Amino acid sequence: MTSQFWAVVPAAGIGRRMEAAVPKQYLEVAGRTVLEHTLSALLDCDRLSRIIVVVAPEDPYWPALGFTHSRIDVGVGGVERCHSVLNGLRALPPDASPEDWVLVHDAARPCVSPEDIERLIARVIGVGGASGGLLGTPIGDTLKRVDHDGFVKDTVPRDGLWRALTPQMFRLKPLRDALDAACSAGKVPTDECQAMEWQGVPPPVMVEGASTNVKVTRGVDLHVVAQYLRHLPQ
Ligand code: C5P
Repeated sequence: MTSQFWAVVPAAGIGRRMEAAVPKQYLEVAGRTVLEHTLSALLDCDRLSRIIVVVAPEDPYWPALGFTHSRIDVGVGGVERCHSVLNGLRALPPDASPEDWVLVHDAARPCVSPEDIERLIARVIGVGGASGGLLGTPIGDTLKRVDHDGFVKDTVPRDGLWRALTPQMFRLKPLRDALDAACSAGKVPTDECQAMEWQGVPPPVMVEGASTNVKVTRGVDLHVVAQYLRHLPQ
């Protein structure tokens, strides 16, 4: 049987660094909320059977959006992003097989392109032997390590250093096991790839994606995202 592809979209954060009245995924940019842009990009990938949006318990903003689609289901978020993703995996339909692929994509990355998602999938399933893969961009800037007082300690060689983006794509069972193991041990991986690394699995493959696939984190990011979204094909 051929594997299916599923998506989990953690959207249960409160976006503290944004200092906005509503969580960042519900801020409006280029005519729609960040989350709606993100979901539209994922829905454009016909290969994704279903998309689980994971929202905070008693989140009033998601129902208010009225965003319904036959390929979208909702899961309930947890304390940290990794708990939300794990809950999203548990909310997949019963016909999801342990061998199926799951793409985890941050709600706060509305500029992801369907082309990048397709390239990620093609590379991961084509490469053979990888446990999964993720989109990323090579670091272009010189990197400095800075002490707690703000003084430069040294320069970190940037050879081989990449910025990890999303989607990150792994098979359902190994990903669920990895997140389960991390959460049960009280560890908080900052992405799925780290949880998989802790399991000692064969290395995931890094696939270069567009640097426009930024995460909305601070106020200024919304202006950048607005520019990028205006230039994306509608
Ligand atoms: O806070 P940060 O930018 O790292 O969050 C990345 C993504 O994870 C966001 O889309 C956010 O809504 C989500 N998240 C979550 N559950 C949490 C914390 C963050 O779904 N407990």
